[in-house]
Amino acid sequence: MTRKRSPEPYANSIEAPTYQSASYYFHDAGHVRTGLHDLTTPAGRYGRYSNPTWLEVEDRLSQLTGAESSLLFASGMAAHFTTFVSLLQAGDEVVLPAESYRQVRNVFHAILPKFGVVVHEISIRDSSAFLSGIKALASRLRLVHLEMPSSPHMYLIDVARVREIVGPDVVITLDSSFSPPPNFYALRWGVDLALFSATKYLGGHGDIVSGVACGRRDLIEKIRWYRDTTGPVADGNAAFLLRRSLYTLPMRMQRINQYGIAVARYLDSHPAVRRVYYTGLESHPHFKLGQDYLAGHGGVVTFELGLSEQATAEFVDRLQVPFMASNFGAPQTLVEQSTFFTYFEYDEQALQSIGVDRSTVRLALGYVNDVAEIIEDLDQALS
Ligand SMILES: *Cc1c(COP(=O)(O)O)cnc(C)c1O
Repeated sequence: MTRKRSPEPYANSIEAPTYQSASYYFHDAGHVRTGLHDLTTPAGRYGRYSNPTWLEVEDRLSQLTGAESSLLFASGMAAHFTTFVSLLQAGDEVVLPAESYRQVRNVFHAILPKFGVVVHEISIRDSSAFLSGIKALASRLRLVHLEMPSSPHMYLIDVARVREIVGPDVVITLDSSFSPPPNFYALRWGVDLALFSATKYLGGHGDIVSGVACGRRDLIEKIRWYRDTTGPVADGNAAFLLRRSLYTLPMRMQRINQYGIAVARYLDSHPAVRRVYYTGLESHPHFKLGQDYLAGHGGVVTFELGLSEQATAEFVDRLQVPFMASNFGAPQTLVEQSTFFTYFEYDEQALQSIGVDRSTVRLALGYVNDVAEIIEDLDQALS
């Protein structure tokens, strides 16, 4: 039994192997010196620090987003939490949108204040009120966290204006899970770090939980130290699945964008639908921002029926095609009734603070269903 692994039998496979290894060995003391001490020879050390499959995915993510550097994480929340913990310290003040992802809000409200971070939350529903709110705080801010489009109403933010207002020194992070490239390139608009739940469109197959941070190298290196130390890392297989998925991202987004606008227009024209929230529709309050920032509007279509929560639940139950599930970017079409599902623990006041009506339905279109099939299903459930 040798303690050395046999060399690759051949090294010309088109796809690089998927690495599943907890640890990496050195051939001799010289290799330790170059691979570990001086870092002049690329070498692995231990699975919490790096993995060749991550490196490949991170490189492709940097190309995709136009980032200097990228990091892969075990989940979107791990990417968010590690980023904020790395960049913030006691006394720092931050702003986030009131419409941010629920667990991101929980990080800001229930975790970061324990370490002395001061959190300001402002609604993005009214764009100019959001910008004036930031202006009023600008001189005190260390970091602004943005998310667009927001769920469930798909609100947008004038990102370039936020950068102008806060100046060059405030860190801007943006959760771009709902708007990956090619729909939106956050880093082109003054954002320092684009954060993604790769569980959603980037992963695109509903089969991994994963997260990504892409952007400025100096910030990524700070975050890397925290990732190395605290270990919210992906395994090689999740990295492999994400790598495979990135090939088809532009094709998937193109189809999903087409489905999104088709379903939004259908719902908008239906008399039983009170209101549709889709940034590709002129009726969306942030349609103009959508034209400026987005090349496509994605597959999440939110609408209100103007009915009671119970009658809305009956409508959702009549749908045959979508799975009742909380995700988007998966192959299948998914549906959730916002107040009955994501926000079921919110009381009336909390619902009002995020502006979610009890008849709100969020449809996340998948790419395996034909769009005609989805519209037909909506039609029978609405009639
Ligand atoms: C899903 C999601 C997250 C969290 O990502 P996970 O991969 O589930 O940890 C963060 N932000 C947004 C907008 C999301 O949709």
